[in-house]
Amino acid sequence: MSFYLKTIIGWLLFNSRLYRFFYRGRAVITLFHRIDDDRSQDSLCCSQRDFRRFCKFFKRYFKVVSLSELLDKIERGEDISRHLVITFDDGYRDNATLAAPILKECGLPACFFVSSGFLDTGMNAPWDTERGIRSEWMDWDQVRALARDGFEIGAHTINHIDLGQVTGEAARREIVESKRRLEEVLETRIDLFSYPFGGVEQCAESNRLEVQRAGFRCCASAYGGLVSAGEDPFRLQRMPINTTWHQTPYQFGLELIDSRQPRFVRRPAAQPAEARTTV
Ligand SMILES: [Zn+2]
Repeated sequence: MSFYLKTIIGWLLFNSRLYRFFYRGRAVITLFHRIDDDRSQDSLCCSQRDFRRFCKFFKRYFKVVSLSELLDKIERGEDISRHLVITFDDGYRDNATLAAPILKECGLPACFFVSSGFLDTGMNAPWDTERGIRSEWMDWDQVRALARDGFEIGAHTINHIDLGQVTGEAARREIVESKRRLEEVLETRIDLFSYPFGGVEQCAESNRLEVQRAGFRCCASAYGGLVSAGEDPFRLQRMPINTTWHQTPYQFGLELIDSRQPRFVRRPAAQPAEARTTV
């Protein structure tokens, strides 16, 4: 089915309010990476225009809450029907300069998961190097400003390691130190964690336990779809939004209903760069 047809069906589904039936008792945690008008055809990027369209769609049809608020409700067994959380991974500079102003304009909360070792550096991420893109990271002042503005900051390890491959002391250090460093700089408790690459096999069970032991309250993936009541916060699914695929919010809203299987997973080492959707 073409995205055009899906958009029409999605529009009908949402405007007839029928979507409320499918989203009953279910929430969604969305995942973005970069906002970049010059690379809107890149799987990790989203233009400002598209991001604003998605934000307005979220605001119109969902109850947009912070990740902590959703976790509170899951823990208390409260209704999470049509709740939606906006998250960003990695710590790209445009998160502060482009995404945050749009979120503020729309009055929406969000969580920014950052790999602390990237911040304030000119380091190029391997997946950006492969695609001939320069990585531009936030500096610490920008992360502080996001936190001051009420956005949540979460940990995403220090060096964006694959927690499906790295285990033991090396993994523990990445998990524990990423929390400690963020807490030291931001002078606040950091208890949200998303694992790098985010595929099914990219978090070993031993590392999931390490995340729990380190004092985090969740371990978020980068695959899946809807979150149901009674969800294990340490197996939290998120839905990456790839605007080369999700060309309209209504298409996204329609496809989300049928996205309970982890079909968006991409293994970084085994897939060509252009096929990758999550980091
Ligand atoms: Zn990442």
